Amino acid sequence: LGSRVFHPEDTIIQTAHNRIGGQQFTVMAGPCSVENQAMITDLAAKVKAAGATVIRGGAYKPRTSPYDFQGLGETGLRYLRAAADQQGLDVITEVMSIDEIAVAAPYTDIFQIGARNMQNFDLLKAVGKAGKPVALKRGLAATIDEMLNAAEYIAAQGNLQIMLVERGIRSFDSTYTRNVLDVGGIAVLRKLSHYPVIVDPSHASGHADLVAPLAKAGVAAGAQGMLVEVHQDPAKALSDAAQQLTPAQFAPLVQQVQQIHALL
Ligand code: PEP
Ligand code: MN
Repeated sequence: LGSRVFHPEDTIIQTAHNRIGGQQFTVMAGPCSVENQAMITDLAAKVKAAGATVIRGGAYKPRTSPYDFQGLGETGLRYLRAAADQQGLDVITEVMSIDEIAVAAPYTDIFQIGARNMQNFDLLKAVGKAGKPVALKRGLAATIDEMLNAAEYIAAQGNLQIMLVERGIRSFDSTYTRNVLDVGGIAVLRKLSHYPVIVDPSHASGHADLVAPLAKAGVAAGAQGMLVEVHQDPAKALSDAAQQLTPAQFAPLVQQVQQIHALL
């Protein structure tokens, strides 16, 4: 269902505020986690002013340690929705379990399936049935074919509103980058599938100063959108502190990637 052989045209995903895919370039940005109402309300205004049309923010967080901040749950979703509505933005947020789909559905426009759940097939089937766009992140060590098969689980439920998110894969060397952004993989996904392809340079790099070069590389390779973590005070962030951009760092990046996209 996801193959260009049978569906040569790019899939365009229509949301309340966006047309994602095709020639469009969609900027999605916001904090790793929704931490409180004031921060997400303020960030919604700032990312919108910089050119974002979708706000991200985690309410259910897949943390490596169970002792780290796990997210605000439905309270966070309520803050996120209110902030988005004030600014006329779509919402993208992660669901980690089947139960969270029904909780999150009234608050979100796009369900994010995180890297750690890329092959959680029951979750993929359930989100496929939920009737909203799904952004599927590449698994930590997933091949392109494994990712396309994961997308197929969603599509097989009758939901072709799928975005493929390249967020870096594990390699033998994580000394300087958290993951390795598979730039070639972005070009391959564009070739093999008709779904919109999105680059997440934040989780790929793990370091704020590497986000801009990876975002630009991803867009040059054909990404039709970017998903970037932005926080007012990254050093104090409750998750992913090292990789979040300030609004002042994020705004010029949007300008630069839009120029690159316009050249393609
Ligand atoms: C996130 O988007 O904050 C996240 C946890 O991403 P990933 O699943 O790519 O690690
Ligand atoms: Mn994060």
